[in-house]
Amino acid sequence: MASRAGTEVRDTRGRPLRDLRISVTDRCNFRCPYCMPRELFGPDHAFLPRSELLTYDEIGRVVRAFAATGVTKVRLTGGEPLLRRDLSVLVGIVAGTEGVADVALTTNGSLLAAQAEALKTAGLRRVTVSLDSLDPDVFQQMADTKIRLDAVLDGIAAARDAGLGPVKLNAVLRRGVNDDGLLELVDYAREGGHVLRVIEFMDVGETNGWLPDEVVPAAEVLARVQAVHPMEPVGRSERGEVAERWRFLDGSGEFGLITSVTKPFCGDCTRARLSAVGELYTCLFASTGTDLRAVLRGGADDDALYEAVAGRWRVRDDNYSEVRGQQPTPPKPEMSFLGG
Ligand code: SAM
Ligand code: SF4
Ligand code: SF4
Repeated sequence: MASRAGTEVRDTRGRPLRDLRISVTDRCNFRCPYCMPRELFGPDHAFLPRSELLTYDEIGRVVRAFAATGVTKVRLTGGEPLLRRDLSVLVGIVAGTEGVADVALTTNGSLLAAQAEALKTAGLRRVTVSLDSLDPDVFQQMADTKIRLDAVLDGIAAARDAGLGPVKLNAVLRRGVNDDGLLELVDYAREGGHVLRVIEFMDVGETNGWLPDEVVPAAEVLARVQAVHPMEPVGRSERGEVAERWRFLDGSGEFGLITSVTKPFCGDCTRARLSAVGELYTCLFASTGTDLRAVLRGGADDDALYEAVAGRWRVRDDNYSEVRGQQPTPPKPEMSFLGG
């Protein structure tokens, strides 16, 4: 398979495969209502047994196959990825894969303080921490967890101190719930040398009670920030970059907007997702995935695994966000399972 390393595979819309997001667990220690509402992910919810999850060695093989199709960036996510034991071991395997130039992590930050150093040493390049509010009560309402906001803030500081900065901070705004804390988040990020990115609340999965009225459009977010801190646009540095980037004119760093609802970016979407049970999804909103675990556990060699990945990508034609609401869609999997 080495002879194919980095060979570009394009889908039916001409989009290459460049990025892979891997969900390493469907479990989480938060119950953000927009992602894992407690009514549905309560004590009776059956999370996946360990035997269903891909092992680190299996993930390593899958990553090799993806790298051979041209993937250079890998992000570990979940659920809460730091709940998976010894995640730094997986980071080391992924970082050591030929062709992979960038390994990143998306986390709620609650367990990051204790692990940041080890993750960095293992080869992690970047970390994104989800942070929806700096007000302890609003944080609690957005995350529905007993874990304190301070644990997340300690995790962010530890990541920066370990050399994983600038740390990206992802905030989902829900109108009437946390959107009045926007400027406080902006100031916190500017002062700490972090990059805040505001994500439009999306209709992922089937359980989060999404209502268009709760989405704060990126244009409104931008106007609110611009009114206090003038910014200029930064061009997208590469194809497939999801955030619209802005630079503060006073030199205090960047700000980003992820406009998945009001300004979809499907035309440039170069991203695949691997679910916690090893299914390949070619879109965050796809209703079915390709079972790579069955291929792996069926004894396939590396070439067969490569063909399973490349063959699926070649027939991909997803553009859900561009056609959102225009046609009925089959049920979508939850983001905690698929990997946000
Ligand atoms: N648990 C980790 C975390 O929260 O960062 C990683 C997984 S989480 C599913 C990944 C990202 O998806 C988080 O930044 C979260 O805010 C975002 N997310 C989850 N549900 C969302 C929704 N309905 N709309 C927009 N973003 C969402
Ligand atoms: Fe957990 Fe992240 Fe989903 Fe919140 S957004 S429930 S932290 S997986
Ligand atoms: Fe990519 Fe699907 Fe999102 Fe469009 S809707 S940007 S195809 S993941």
